[in-house]
Amino acid sequence: MHSAQRIGRYRIERCLGTGAFGTVWLARDDDLDAQVAVKVLAENWAHRLDVRERFLSEARMLRRAGSPRVVQVYDIGELPDGRPYFVMEYADAGTLADLVADGPLPVPEALRLTALAARGAHALHEAGIVHRDVKPSNVLLSTAPDGTRRVLLADLGLAKSLAEASGLTLAAGSAGYRPPEQASPGSGIDARADVYSLGAVGYELITGVVPAEPGDVVPPRRLRPGLDAAVERALLRALEADRAKRWPDAGAFADALEQLAGADSGRPRRRGRVRLLAAAAAVTVLGVGGTGLALALRPGPAPQVRVADASGRITVHVPADWARQLRDSGWDPGVLGLPAGHEPALAVADDLSRWQDPSSDVDGVFVGLSARGDVRARVDAVSHTGCHYDGERSWTGERFRGVVRSWSRCTGGGRITESALVPAAASASRDQVYVQIRRHGGADATDRVLAALRVS
Ligand code: ATP
Ligand code: MG
Repeated sequence: MHSAQRIGRYRIERCLGTGAFGTVWLARDDDLDAQVAVKVLAENWAHRLDVRERFLSEARMLRRAGSPRVVQVYDIGELPDGRPYFVMEYADAGTLADLVADGPLPVPEALRLTALAARGAHALHEAGIVHRDVKPSNVLLSTAPDGTRRVLLADLGLAKSLAEASGLTLAAGSAGYRPPEQASPGSGIDARADVYSLGAVGYELITGVVPAEPGDVVPPRRLRPGLDAAVERALLRALEADRAKRWPDAGAFADALEQLAGADSGRPRRRGRVRLLAAAAAVTVLGVGGTGLALALRPGPAPQVRVADASGRITVHVPADWARQLRDSGWDPGVLGLPAGHEPALAVADDLSRWQDPSSDVDGVFVGLSARGDVRARVDAVSHTGCHYDGERSWTGERFRGVVRSWSRCTGGGRITESALVPAAASASRDQVYVQIRRHGGADATDRVLAALRVS
């Protein structure tokens, strides 16, 4: 894409950066005579229905957050070649990643910037959204008309949500900024995950380095001798591996950082507000905790494992060697283009981190429920580039009926089936079931998995 090109009615000026899932362009809206940033989903992801829906649902979520501390989304659209994009507010002063690239910041500035990012995260939490991918490149800076700097959160866990489109990746977020609960299955994510990441951002701005793994964080005063012990305590409290020991919410962390920034620059300390409500308990928890892996080994050459989701509504039986990793905390049917929400789902596979790549070797199953929308129509719209489409067949079992669409000979050798099911009995629940099954070797296991599937 060169400078003469347009994305919709926006005239491209230059590339601002490229991330894991797309490229961000600086563009001009000639009609409104304003600069905007346009994020375009990368070509290799654009054919994935689930990923593109997730991309757009993130844009909608950013829009819904509607906070001056969160980057605004103005428009969404699609290029003629099918790549979706969204148009957002242009942050003209770079990102925290650009700032820290030149080395650690003066302590009061680092504290104030981190506090502002924490205020942005808190605004999201109050809107029921957990960001899940707070890191310096997702904290943007823009110059207000009076010359002061605004701090804006971007991406809203975009990278993570994209990677887990279909609800599938365990270890999401970016290393160093990721709390331990984000790397373990079934633990559930709440606002305190963002408190951890914010702590990591503050740590990096002050020390110049990304913190080590949770639990192994080097005390910042070793990296920045002379640092106030209270600043170190505040950062390490955010970076506690046990989230119960962290600041209870991002607002409390912001208060503490602002106080310390005031103290550090010699200004009078502001009294912290008394927080009557621990907001962390009040925010919507996106992931619901729970363990769903019940081992029920059956005799025979290929032992089957029974796996349930956190809500206990979905049960599947899979070969034991698929059942290495489980994600049981539900899904957003919006990733498939169904009405957005949070519904029961589980994914179980030998390696969930590779699920989103159709060419990777993985054995597993994803099951998600959706009470609304037309799962069948959405499954009909799915395609898997790089695989051979083998066609569609109807499927009828004791409990469900529906269609199974199959792909084989995917780059990498695997096969994929996509199924849309409804309860076989007319009187049963309204739940429709979406099932994706991946195999990298061996025979198609779809019929066996579907026959043993139960939804209560
Ligand atoms: P990741 O894919 O892990 O999120 P990233 O945040 O660097 O990495 P993108 O979100 O795709 O990737 O953004 C790429 C770069 O574009 C950012 O690092 C940032 O420099 C720039 N950028 C993104 N959004 C804006 C914006 N609204 N205004 C100005 N620059 C932006
Ligand atoms: Mg980003």
